[in-house]
Amino acid sequence: MDLRFGETYEKLRADVRAFCQEAWPPRGDEAALPAAEQAIRFRQRAIEAGFLFRTVPREYGGAGGETDVLTETVLRQEFDAARTPHRGSVQGTHMLVPTLLECGTEEQRRHYIPRTLTGELRWCQGYSEPGSGSDLASLQSRAELDGEQWVLNGQKIWTSQADSAQMMFGLFRTEPDASKHAGISYLLVPMDTPGLDVRPLKMMNGGLEFCEVFFDDVRIPAANLVGRRGEGWKVSRSTLKHERMLIGDASGARRGFDELLKLARRSERDGRPAIDDPQIRQRLAEIEGYVVTQEYSVARMLTALHKGEDAKVMSELMMAKLLSTNTGQQVARLAMDLLAETGLASPGGEDVIMGVPHEYSDGFWVSHYMMTLGSAIAGGASNIQRNIIGERLLGLPRDERRN
Ligand SMILES: Cc1cc2nc3c(=O)[nH]c(=O)nc-3n(C[C@H](O)[C@H](O)[C@H](O)COP(=O)(O)OP(=O)(O)OC[C@H]3O[C@@H](n4cnc5c(N)ncnc54)[C@H](O)[C@@H]3O)c2cc1C
Repeated sequence: MDLRFGETYEKLRADVRAFCQEAWPPRGDEAALPAAEQAIRFRQRAIEAGFLFRTVPREYGGAGGETDVLTETVLRQEFDAARTPHRGSVQGTHMLVPTLLECGTEEQRRHYIPRTLTGELRWCQGYSEPGSGSDLASLQSRAELDGEQWVLNGQKIWTSQADSAQMMFGLFRTEPDASKHAGISYLLVPMDTPGLDVRPLKMMNGGLEFCEVFFDDVRIPAANLVGRRGEGWKVSRSTLKHERMLIGDASGARRGFDELLKLARRSERDGRPAIDDPQIRQRLAEIEGYVVTQEYSVARMLTALHKGEDAKVMSELMMAKLLSTNTGQQVARLAMDLLAETGLASPGGEDVIMGVPHEYSDGFWVSHYMMTLGSAIAGGASNIQRNIIGERLLGLPRDERRN
């Protein structure tokens, strides 16, 4: 099977590669800037070059290009390979921005999108609550309109990066008497509003960016509503669609597997490289089977989307998140076995990285193993993914609790 993208895209690939070599990592005075500032400058430059956020219209700070899934894929692959900070805060760039483009007002788009793309404005996602995760529509935090302001009360939990975000996009019950899904609104909340309290939760890998957020008469402008009042559920669906696409990307699986191979080569079993052990080779071969399946499945999705045959990709889309988080867990589990007793050490602060490190150190593998347990829950737990596949794809009877 020929998986190359053709001449036009290979030319684009060469151009992006040359751009990345020139722009990242930063040199000269820029190398001394804080990492966050370096990342902002890189993204500004990549947007100007037309390589990043290329489909976001120019008036909102993007490059204003046509939608083309193959171009997007080439760009993402090259940015990933060069380990550039192109993603930024994914809650902002990959969840909020598409939602504002689909449902926001002109003023909201102009005000929030440009600074979100560059990473100057960071967001967190305030959906889950202590009693509402998989069954999100049962959420209880409420917002009442008082003149020109919403007054928020309640609690969110598992809010990633709430400690560093300047803004939250969140779901709040605004019509307590309406039916479960109809009474929710999608609101934009500045994190420095009086009455809002962020309390970090310590994760098992030592990270602190996972938080509880409490609202005690938090007042925000009435204009911070996205979409119509009571239609927040519909608005939030456009966000989740993008979140699933993000997690279902195959390049992360390939990168993780390649690093696992390196670990198997440098680890020892009975005085020999672990990769010479037939049992380890067997497990590696099995995992690579899943990685290749994912790559071909993504290639098939891209082909269908490129031809405008969107309906054909629904089955792959429904399976993508479950497959990628399962494969990620298998990779991390084998890495832990290869590390043997080294894997018992607690990860240090420098190992707790959300995203891709420059080097996969032993400590990073341990931290990553712990995080793969969470990836199978975040953005829709695996059992819920199985329900979706069973009910919508295979036509099995609906889950009793959700009838
Ligand atoms: C790393 C990480 C980051 C996160 N970041 C955010 C964030 O930034 N913002 C945010 O709002 N939330 C975030 N979350 C929360 C996440 O969305 C929820 O954890 C998730 O939706 C599951 O909800 P829950 O934890 O309440 O578990 P529950 O819904 O209580 O589920 C518990 C278990 O029961 C199973 N289960 C539940 N219902 C069913 C069913 N109908 N059929 C079969 N099995 C079922 C689940 O699969 C799971 O195994 C994050 C979670 C993680 C782990």
